[in-house]
Amino acid sequence: MTTSTRPPAQSPEELFAEVCGQARRAAVLAAVEALLGWDEQTGLPARAGAYRGEQAAAVAGIVHRLRTDQAHGDRIARLASSPLARSGPPEVVGTISLLARDHTKQARLPARLVEELARTTSEAQQAWRAAREASSWKTFAPWLERVFALKREQAACQLPDRDPYDALLDDYEPDASWPAITARFDRLRGELVPLVQACVAAAERPDDGVLRRPYPVADQRRFVRAVAEKIGFDFTRGRLDTTAHPFCSTIGPDDCRITTRWDERFLPTALYGVLHEAGHGLYEQGLPRDWYGLPAGEAASLGIHESQSRLWENLVGRSPAFWEWCFPVARAAFPQALGDSTAREVQRALMTVTPSFIRVEADEVTYNLHVMLRFDLERALVQGTLAVADLRDAWNERFEHDFGMRPPTDAEGVLQDIHWAAGLVGYFPTYALGNVFAAQLMHAARTQLPGLDRDIAAGRFAPLLDWLRRHVHAHGRLLDSERLVEQATGGPVSEQWLVDSLRQRYAAAHEG
Ligand code: ZN
Repeated sequence: MTTSTRPPAQSPEELFAEVCGQARRAAVLAAVEALLGWDEQTGLPARAGAYRGEQAAAVAGIVHRLRTDQAHGDRIARLASSPLARSGPPEVVGTISLLARDHTKQARLPARLVEELARTTSEAQQAWRAAREASSWKTFAPWLERVFALKREQAACQLPDRDPYDALLDDYEPDASWPAITARFDRLRGELVPLVQACVAAAERPDDGVLRRPYPVADQRRFVRAVAEKIGFDFTRGRLDTTAHPFCSTIGPDDCRITTRWDERFLPTALYGVLHEAGHGLYEQGLPRDWYGLPAGEAASLGIHESQSRLWENLVGRSPAFWEWCFPVARAAFPQALGDSTAREVQRALMTVTPSFIRVEADEVTYNLHVMLRFDLERALVQGTLAVADLRDAWNERFEHDFGMRPPTDAEGVLQDIHWAAGLVGYFPTYALGNVFAAQLMHAARTQLPGLDRDIAAGRFAPLLDWLRRHVHAHGRLLDSERLVEQATGGPVSEQWLVDSLRQRYAAAHEG
């Protein structure tokens, strides 16, 4: 009897199972990495940071090796040229093509660059915290210089044939292109600037005083949890905790964690923080569970992710129908603050438009202007038409142009966001794209579900959630964002739905 040294030829199906097995093993460890990150944000002792950094780096290294492993890459390449990649079931065809795409991009990144990016962005974030504290642009600028140099290098390695900004954007919004986004944002800005001016000049401006009364945090905790549960967030597969900067993190197929912060003198901080993060959470909980760890079980893009959070936060959560249901619940939770008010008063208060310096505190209308400013500046930095040394002045000039006021300090201007320090370049536009997608999806849902507002007013959120499950969540990453929205709504992506939605809702709120 002889033994062969050659492995038996694998069928494409066996090859597919093996490739998916490795991708899922990487996903298990990526979930461990996410858990370390969640723990770092929610409960890490003050002096535990350094060792946590080592733990996170160790796990990240293993995940990167599993994903870029040469043998894994060879198997994906063989699979991609097999008949299964062309004529298999749609989930299988899509999975193979996306795994091949991801592997190529990741494998092109040299280990040295991965480590340098991790180290530099970690130090840059610490430098950013100190610089923001001191409102000192000069001490942060050299760090930003280093981060953008590394990001340009990353773009050139990963997608050498693409424009460098588009190459970075691809990590968050696959296949998006900056000229198309610029054109969309320019049209949007042309509509938003006069809308902001009209809201500010309106004779019957809403007053948000009712939201600025004492709202005890213990009562807020019970109330926002009840609201999240009511819209469909499954607390047997998730939880809610407290952090300085709210986020949503998925630790496994049945473990989605959302966080919020509390302000006992301003109800919207926690309520709208939770509606936003629960919107992200509903998407994560609605992704195809059997495909967890594979593209068919992943979010389509950050823009689509953001469309889900914005839809629940703004299009549902600020609507008169929502407050018809929510007001009695809120008044029972906060009898002192809301005993003498009405649903209409609270709902109108939530539609106050006030230009301000800080993006994360911005109202729904001005928010997009904050995003567009960052998009144009970061693109110019990546493409080399703006030098980091000139960024602060460029920021202040642009802010004055769009908002009619100049940031009094760097902390209220160029230093306010952590994204660039963290290496998140190409990320900002997904916030405004999310608003565009959300408005178009909501319009389609309302057309297809004629009783939608009546349902919401009665506290029935399942019809809307089911619609999102079928038209958005079920597709995982198999459709890109443009095709996903087009298929769900029956028309090409257009910012006009957002413009119409804002105009109509804010006009209604600015009538006495
Ligand atoms: Zn979000």
